[in-house]
Amino acid sequence: MENAHKLLDGRKIAGEMHQKISADVEVLGTDGWPLKLVSVSIGETDAARLYVRNQKRTAGKLGIAFEERDYPAEISESELLGIIQGLNTDPRVTGIIIQRPTPQHVSVRRLQRAVHPFKDVEGMHPSNIGSIVYEVPKMGPCTAMASVHLLKATKTPLQGLEVTVIGHSAIVGKPIAFLLMAEGATVTVCHHETRNLAMHSRAADVVFVAVGKAGLVTGDMLKPGAVVIDIGINQVDTPDGPKVVGDADFESCAETAGWITPVPGGVGPVTVATLMRNAVTAAQLQRDHYTSEFGTAHSVYAHLPPGSSGAG
Ligand code: NAD
Repeated sequence: MENAHKLLDGRKIAGEMHQKISADVEVLGTDGWPLKLVSVSIGETDAARLYVRNQKRTAGKLGIAFEERDYPAEISESELLGIIQGLNTDPRVTGIIIQRPTPQHVSVRRLQRAVHPFKDVEGMHPSNIGSIVYEVPKMGPCTAMASVHLLKATKTPLQGLEVTVIGHSAIVGKPIAFLLMAEGATVTVCHHETRNLAMHSRAADVVFVAVGKAGLVTGDMLKPGAVVIDIGINQVDTPDGPKVVGDADFESCAETAGWITPVPGGVGPVTVATLMRNAVTAAQLQRDHYTSEFGTAHSVYAHLPPGSSGAG
């Protein structure tokens, strides 16, 4: 069968997003709101190092300052919560990124909850997740927002679309489902207890897969012409050495799919671009808050309103 799929090029789509973001960053800077992200890494993790490098490079390209902070694995959770409170009240900091994974004794959820919602560029604070459920998203979780952005780039009308989301994590699968319901799609969510995954994926016009299992979705599990958005990141050994692949078996899926994202080069770059777009939104929210509170857009040395739930 002829290989008729079209590649959803995440690098190209991210590049288009970058143009608008860097223009917004420039305007904010001229208005007295230069953007700065602070990345908090805890302990040595090679996986996080790669993410931080990508984030730093993209931030630099877009005129956003990026401060990398590395804390030792032994640091206590309460010390980290104190550090986050300091960043929340530092007017020079636009947004805070908590790199994962964290050591066992540090709850990433508790750290995310401590980040002020106006500085939550990862879109992980319960109030930002809640805004998605209420259909008023401000800063949504980056990977979920990026995955939906990629689907929209295919120009597929979303109203009434049959969508199957495989994986139901709080930061990827569930927010994707809510974002798509808001667009009028009919959404089925599958997870590790789902009895017949193929039955659900074959019925779908669009399949999102975010599980972390290489080869989970194969071409025979798809409706011909379906869109496949592959969010998984898996390192596999090949005769040519280690390789990063998604959750979809690219070769067989590309035979059946209408559109498919590559891994790497699909969801990843759009996720980083979404993080930067959230940084712009964070700066705008902070500027608008100070403007309405103090009557000037130049009060970068004021404090944020209460709103973070602290150690919660
Ligand atoms: P998670 O471990 O929190 O959740 C995994 C989900 O997969 C769960 O909902 C679980 O029920 C489901 N699952 C497990 N086995 C299954 C099976 N056999 N059939 C159907 N569902 C099954 O993972 P996560 O944080 O959502 O990440 C998922 C994947 O996405 C990982 O590979 C991760 O590396 C990747 N990821 C990519 C990005 C990106 O920017 N591209 C960002 C975040 C996560």
